[in-house]
Amino acid sequence: MIKFTILSPPRAATGTPAMDETFMRIALELAAQARQRGEVPVGAVVVLDGGVIGEGFNQPIGARDPTAHAEIVAMRAAAARIGNYRLSGAELFVTIEPCQMCVGAMVHARIARLIYAAPEPRAGAIESAMRAHEHPALNHRIQAVGGVLEAESRELMQDFFRERRASEAARSGLTNGEVPKWS
Ligand SMILES: [Zn+2]
Repeated sequence: MIKFTILSPPRAATGTPAMDETFMRIALELAAQARQRGEVPVGAVVVLDGGVIGEGFNQPIGARDPTAHAEIVAMRAAAARIGNYRLSGAELFVTIEPCQMCVGAMVHARIARLIYAAPEPRAGAIESAMRAHEHPALNHRIQAVGGVLEAESRELMQDFFRERRASEAARSGLTNGEVPKWS
């Protein structure tokens, strides 16, 4: 597992639009690290009391781990750092709407607030494919906010998939339009 340095911005009240953007920018930097490694560019940070306690970027290919989504990597780092699998009161910032697995893990971790940038039209489990965080059987409610630095995250995804489509098309002899794309 790759180790990260912890970036800790000055402590301040969280939940303001300016603070949300500050932490989302760190998540976007992590997403860029995923892209450099050929992974779908998604980044995440866990914030507690105004400081970053866990960072992660998407790395299922490199880690040979189907669960190594940015959110899971960031929550594992945060839990190890504070010595508790429950991240009660923590906020999780992620550059793309999380999938069902990650929402489930956030419920287990008792994440208080989820902030994401761009929706994920196929598998997003907050507003797109389903609303997993609102399932009545859940014993914990996560407050979810989307659209923070949405354009930046969408551009990162579109660039990544455009490049991948071009290289796959070149390799396979398909025309660019036959390779799946990010919306
Ligand atoms: Zn996920």
